[in-house]
Amino acid sequence: MQRKVMDVVVVGGGIVGTAILRKLSFYDLTVALVEKQPDVCEGASKANSGIIHTGFDAKPQTVEAECLRLSRELWPDLVSQLKIPYISCGAVMVATSEEEKEIIFSTYVPNAQANGVEVHWMEAEELREMNPAVSDQALGGLVISDEAICDPFWATRANAELAVLNGAEVLLGAGVERIEQEVDHLRLVLDDGREILTRYVVNAAGLWADEIARMIGDDSFTLTPRKGQFLLTEEQVDITQIILPVPTKISKGVLISPVVFGGFLLGPTAEDQEDKWDRSTTSEGLTFVSEGCSKLVPQTRNMSTIRQFAGLRAVCSEGDFVIRPSSQNQRMVHAAGIRSTGVSASPGIAELVVEKLEQAGLMLDPKSDPTLELPELFGEADGSETGEIICLCRSISRGELLGALSRPIRCTTVDGLKRRTGATLGECQGNCCIPKIMDILAEQSAMGPEQPLKGLRHSHVAMRGAK
Ligand SMILES: Cc1cc2nc3c(=O)[nH]c(=O)nc-3n(C[C@H](O)[C@H](O)[C@H](O)COP(=O)(O)OP(=O)(O)OC[C@H]3O[C@@H](n4cnc5c(N)ncnc54)[C@H](O)[C@@H]3O)c2cc1C
Repeated sequence: MQRKVMDVVVVGGGIVGTAILRKLSFYDLTVALVEKQPDVCEGASKANSGIIHTGFDAKPQTVEAECLRLSRELWPDLVSQLKIPYISCGAVMVATSEEEKEIIFSTYVPNAQANGVEVHWMEAEELREMNPAVSDQALGGLVISDEAICDPFWATRANAELAVLNGAEVLLGAGVERIEQEVDHLRLVLDDGREILTRYVVNAAGLWADEIARMIGDDSFTLTPRKGQFLLTEEQVDITQIILPVPTKISKGVLISPVVFGGFLLGPTAEDQEDKWDRSTTSEGLTFVSEGCSKLVPQTRNMSTIRQFAGLRAVCSEGDFVIRPSSQNQRMVHAAGIRSTGVSASPGIAELVVEKLEQAGLMLDPKSDPTLELPELFGEADGSETGEIICLCRSISRGELLGALSRPIRCTTVDGLKRRTGATLGECQGNCCIPKIMDILAEQSAMGPEQPLKGLRHSHVAMRGAK
């Protein structure tokens, strides 16, 4: 790649960058994606509620509302083309007081109408019939039938894999360190010394998109992290929909949602911070989550949980998605500030970004026969349920792990295998199977001589050969 000139390079392998890459791969272009971490989906896209929002509560007339509107039309086809685990469960915003009911009718019903999203009121009796675990205090709720849940990692990986099948290149462990501006090109200098010459760059670097913009002298926006902490439980909760609180002036509150692979997610918090790397959880944050959820679903107060984690939203100084060419250089198009609804909005963001690239001069000739659908082989766990069972909690065999290692996007980490197969996601959270998974990764040696990583760069799980 060093010698040839690319048409477009996407920086950032989250849901946004990979959705853009997939869309670009349908045109007669040379396209690539560079991702700093060893796998796709290592940023905000891996740690969120996994809800496909309709945008019923998005601020009307914003870029975010427009992307969500476009995405609503695109998701049904995408789910079948990319074989994304997806459940159309719907959501309900539960009112536990007359005041909350009044907020729903004065704020959220008109807002949903302005955004073209269908909603309806459900009385308490029906609410509890559908969701028996909801509090007796509930007066009813606003139903948003088209809200759904999905596996965001699957969607991200599948975007990237489909793009690769259409000829795109994906470079993992490739962080952009510097960008040089030349007359007709941008030169990306990677942190391993490689250089890529390209006619256009899409800046989809999540929380770091402001830093990528500054590499060409564009300081038009800044991004700060807002942490969201979650609890995951495998206890049964008698709900069939996503249970949303009514936001107050102080807090958006916390929700309870089913998870596509089983279990329930509680959270998230919303805590502004400065450190873009701090994804730690705290006892205060998790107490806030379990107490907040217990107001809607009382049993969550003393629930046993199997996992806690946090993700970081990218809060933008502009208060909206930034989807536009840079004022410093039209050859860079930003897809930045994608704060709270990026999974849901990603198909629409991809449409808008490609439109901006075309306006900036990129010729878009559709490929005559692009692959639009991911082959079954890459959608399932490759069918090789053979050999020793490695993950006892989830019954994942050696054959399934080996299958996951042979997909188009190279997997070199324990977390990568976890997200591709479900291994380590059970009750023991990998305590029993991680050593065997590390052996499989090392045996296959797709990663070279260094030891297997847990997920991020430098996240070595163990020191091999140490005495
Ligand atoms: C707590 C929480 C809950 C959420 N819930 C939902 C939800 O239910 N539904 C929903 O739709 N959205 C939700 N979101 C929002 C959603 O997760 C984000 O909007 C989305 O993941 C942003 O995707 P992205 O691709 O822009 O960023 P990221 O996923 O962060 O990807 C950016 C990538 O760029 C890479 N990168 C950075 N710098 C460089 C560089 N110099 N060179 C190369 N690569 C680089 C990073 O490593 C990263 O992989 C939630 C977010 C949080 C934090």
